[in-house]
Amino acid sequence: MTPLDSPLLALTGGYWDGKFHALTGATITVRDPASYEAIATLPRMGAEHATLAVAAAVRALAAGPPDLERRKRALIAVADAHDANCDELARIITAENGKPLAEAIGEVRYAAGFYRDAVRHVDGLAPRTLAEEPRGCTWRVHARPAGVAALITPFNFPLAMLAKKLSAAIAAGCPVVVKPAEKTPLSAIALFGLLHRLELPPGTLNLVYGDAPAIGRVLCEHPAVRVISFTGSTAVGQWLAAACAPHMKRLSLELGGNAPFVVFADADLDHAAEQLVANKFRCSGQTCVCTNRVLVEASVAEAFVARVAKRVAALTLGAGAAVGTDVGPLIDRAAFDKVSRHVSDAVERGARVVVGGVTASGGDGVGAFFPPTVLSGVTAEALASQEETFGPLIAVGTFSGEAEGIARADDTAYGLAAYVFSADLARLERVAQALHFGHVGLNTATGPTPEAPFGGMRMSGVGREGGEQGVHEYVEWQTTPIGLP
Ligand code: ADP
Repeated sequence: MTPLDSPLLALTGGYWDGKFHALTGATITVRDPASYEAIATLPRMGAEHATLAVAAAVRALAAGPPDLERRKRALIAVADAHDANCDELARIITAENGKPLAEAIGEVRYAAGFYRDAVRHVDGLAPRTLAEEPRGCTWRVHARPAGVAALITPFNFPLAMLAKKLSAAIAAGCPVVVKPAEKTPLSAIALFGLLHRLELPPGTLNLVYGDAPAIGRVLCEHPAVRVISFTGSTAVGQWLAAACAPHMKRLSLELGGNAPFVVFADADLDHAAEQLVANKFRCSGQTCVCTNRVLVEASVAEAFVARVAKRVAALTLGAGAAVGTDVGPLIDRAAFDKVSRHVSDAVERGARVVVGGVTASGGDGVGAFFPPTVLSGVTAEALASQEETFGPLIAVGTFSGEAEGIARADDTAYGLAAYVFSADLARLERVAQALHFGHVGLNTATGPTPEAPFGGMRMSGVGREGGEQGVHEYVEWQTTPIGLP
């Protein structure tokens, strides 16, 4: 049953063996974060269904990998399907995730970009012969598909996170089992409806969701699954890594972050403020590259906060589908409560509310609308500095001098994204080199792009997505020395 009426959701359920399976039994409910109303009731699949999906993928694997030209054609077809259905896919993303429609449209285009970019890396997987002939042999190097790949995605970019993984898996020739987040499975279901029309060999693409730990266990323990690609919390990433350890699986994990945004006194403050606001409120602050700690050189802190506050006060909070909305609701009540906790904690430790603040809203029936908030005077000990808030909170603290700026920015166990603003290019280079983050924006707060490898250092994970490196996560390199007669 799908009260969210969409031609792309005519068929739902699980997908394996090249068709949708409408299942009876236990269900999950998908809710519109703007109203908490139920928009879909779907089967709650478990170990049994995951096993069927893996078995279908194993059969596809046994049929041999598609040749490179077929992979390129499939990637282009998937990208085209995104483009041709952009508005409807965006409507579904907004309905289940809550983000403003314009952002959802941006997400569909961004997702399509991963499939298009992956096309460029397919030819690089052709077997090659080494020029050298060591050990009296001719050496061939083959990029074999690593095996069945399990793709586990979070709620914040229901299509784009899938695109990062699926584009690379298709390029490498791996059949996949996709497990979207239970809060936002509809975008993936809609995409599978479109993929179904491509008539790829049955078992190439499979979809399950429901009881995440039960499904996760099958994916980690089934010997044919050779790659686990996961984006989500560090806690679940650690669980997956531990579950995979006895089976020596390839892991690609993009986990939590705690992104610093460092503003030196010589920076263009208007530009930095604009970049911060654009970065911070995407998906209501619920992205892994959203700034979490703003660190401003003390001498310009007041001037910078004033610039930020002016922009944040002008943002419109509302339902993602409503015209004029800049910031949508949070995904659920738990997310709302976490932001409230971070604001209250920072204020108790002496921070000042400049814009927004804790609100009584967010209860059942009204959606989790947390107002865009700016706090100044946030200390390093505050929860908002220690943990990822994952909400629309700009928490500003101060530092003095380059060494302290670097030390404060790098003082976290995480290492996904960081941003640094300064007029001194040599300083930007120095700071980037000193920071342990996979993505360091210099005078920009842009997030990742399909063309470049993206991923975390330290507790933010292992592996990269995007670019050639993203495709190689799904490749096993095999060498075949051939004895010369
Ligand atoms: P988030 O905070 O973004 O919800 P989670 O790490 O909880 O992050 O969820 C990200 C994805 O991981 C979702 O698809 C979720 O269903 C899935 N997930 C959660 N627990 C497990 C598990 N034990 N095994 C496999 N997948 C899991």
